[in-house]
Amino acid sequence: MLGGDRLTAQTDVLVIGGGPAGIATALALRGDGFRVQVAERSGYERVRVGETFPPSIRPCLAKLGVWRSFLLEGHLRSPAITSAWGGSETHDQSHIFSPYGVAWHVDRRRFDLWLAREAVGRGIPVAPGVRLRDTSRDAFGKWSVRVDTPAGATTVQASYLADATGRTSSLARRLDRRRVVHDRLVGLYRFFSDPSHEASSTEPEGSGGHELPATGLVEAVEDGWWYSAPIPDGRLVAALMTDADIAARQGARDPTRWHELMQRAPHTWLRIRRLRAEGAPKVFAANTSRLDTVFGSGWLAVGDAAMTHDPLSGDGVCRALRQGLAAAAAIRGDTDGDAAALPEYGRAVDSAFDEYLRVRAVVYGLEDRWHDATFWARRHREGTRRSISAG
Ligand SMILES: Cc1cc2nc3c(=O)[nH]c(=O)nc-3n(C[C@H](O)[C@H](O)[C@H](O)COP(=O)(O)OP(=O)(O)OC[C@H]3O[C@@H](n4cnc5c(N)ncnc54)[C@H](O)[C@@H]3O)c2cc1C
Repeated sequence: MLGGDRLTAQTDVLVIGGGPAGIATALALRGDGFRVQVAERSGYERVRVGETFPPSIRPCLAKLGVWRSFLLEGHLRSPAITSAWGGSETHDQSHIFSPYGVAWHVDRRRFDLWLAREAVGRGIPVAPGVRLRDTSRDAFGKWSVRVDTPAGATTVQASYLADATGRTSSLARRLDRRRVVHDRLVGLYRFFSDPSHEASSTEPEGSGGHELPATGLVEAVEDGWWYSAPIPDGRLVAALMTDADIAARQGARDPTRWHELMQRAPHTWLRIRRLRAEGAPKVFAANTSRLDTVFGSGWLAVGDAAMTHDPLSGDGVCRALRQGLAAAAAIRGDTDGDAAALPEYGRAVDSAFDEYLRVRAVVYGLEDRWHDATFWARRHREGTRRSISAG
């Protein structure tokens, strides 16, 4: 279904994981003349989340040479982000002054599949349905990676491995690295369609239907916050972001209860109440975490495999693409004999993570309507700890 999707026995770099970080790493390496291939566990057939991109996605996609193709994919343009945070009124933060134009709402599964196809189009094998079985390294530093593929078991030999497996860090864990987890945030996601949109698409123009909102909305509530955004094909996605234990205590996985909880977020409720849910809530881990070490001899971790941000930051995909470019530069430097290339990559990841934690504490500190509520008290405590240790 991807085409060109068989792994070959020898390569310079084997990228494990074909999400945005893995594909960006592969595209950048290929541009530098490396032989590179991508081993992806899925077939890109399941629902994926993370569908709002800031305007700054543009330079990353442009550097990877896929910006023009992105524009042809029918994603939704978004002029602003709306929030009710720190007060009950909504505010629009317009992108009008962004040098990169508008933000975007995408169908995330389609976006990831499109990006993988772009890689295949540039001669990079992206093999779906691959399972990691075993890794070993010989005395000359060559990796042997045994994998199961739909066509049978095979071994790939590579000089470098890139762990781009997302928050599972599958390769790094095999190399005895550990993930440091900062919270227990989860997202309970549901997709919606607009019944009047379906009716009006078979009726003459102007005869019915109402407009889906054009912007993403973030709305704080006592137990966390709600996120909702339009996505292509007249659909909308909405999620309750809260801690796993609070979600369990509230029974938030139950569809009826999820809807009841949403009514505590009046602005979100207003945009969803007439829409038709497409299924029960799906739960996604959304915690802040990082790998204790993001590189070693002959390997590195990139994207969510290296560190994860709270989705409130809305920049996961952008960061994954930027880090893919940086990971490729580090591998290139190391190959050229620059012993500082991988450590510098590691330091850049460390300082980006520290800066992210600082900003996260500030943003959660802006919402102080529910001091004693567990969700907010946890975040405010962490913010206080950070400012004391920084002072
Ligand atoms: C609830 C939630 C909401 C989010 N919302 C946004 C948003 O609105 N905007 C935004 O920019 N970011 C958002 N993010 C963050 C964003 O989705 C991630 O930062 C981004 O997907 C990271 O890309 P990645 O390639 O590093 O990891 P992933 O996208 O997780 O990709 C990893 C890939 O590796 C594959 N894989 C996993 N294990 C293996 C294995 N063992 N072998 C081979 N392949 C494997 C997976 O199938 C997948 O294709 C959100 C995240 C969450 C959890």
